[in-house]
Amino acid sequence: MGSEVLKVGEKPELGLEPVLRYLPWASRDEISALREEIDEVKKNLKEVLNNLAGTDSKIKELEGIKSSIEGKLASVGSELDSVRTELSKLEPVVFVSKLVGVWKGMTCSWVLEGVCTAWKLSSEVVNEIKKYFSDAALVNVNNDWKLAVKNVPYICAFCPLYKPKNGISTGEQKS
Ligand code: SF4
Repeated sequence: MGSEVLKVGEKPELGLEPVLRYLPWASRDEISALREEIDEVKKNLKEVLNNLAGTDSKIKELEGIKSSIEGKLASVGSELDSVRTELSKLEPVVFVSKLVGVWKGMTCSWVLEGVCTAWKLSSEVVNEIKKYFSDAALVNVNNDWKLAVKNVPYICAFCPLYKPKNGISTGEQKS
């Protein structure tokens, strides 16, 4: 055992066994220890290969998730474009409201230093105004919340309490 030599014309065997057989210097114990080590390496290699196979399937799964997210983002993007288009139709309304509101806010007799003294606001209305505009839309005067119309001229545009200051013409036709 262990020292057979390959003869001329003989085909070499492949694999571990023929290699171990041709180790003339190795004792039975050394060969057995070598076999165990090789078995351990084989086992580890198998585990690595299994993990690699798992990694491959994980990569495929992640690629699927990535394409699904990309598809959803594309659809959200096109929805945003339609919302943008619809909102742009409101731009003229906002422009005119601001134009009329600024004029009314400057010429209304209820305005004192940019603050409307006509409206007395309930806490519900104050909260709504803060939600839609900002704290700058309000000012507290003697524990009452008042509209700072200089900062939110839109409100004056829709206000039914507008009362022009003396000398301001509202364009009313006299009969
Ligand atoms: S138009 Fe209305 S909101 Fe504006 S200052 Fe006059 S009363 Fe106040």
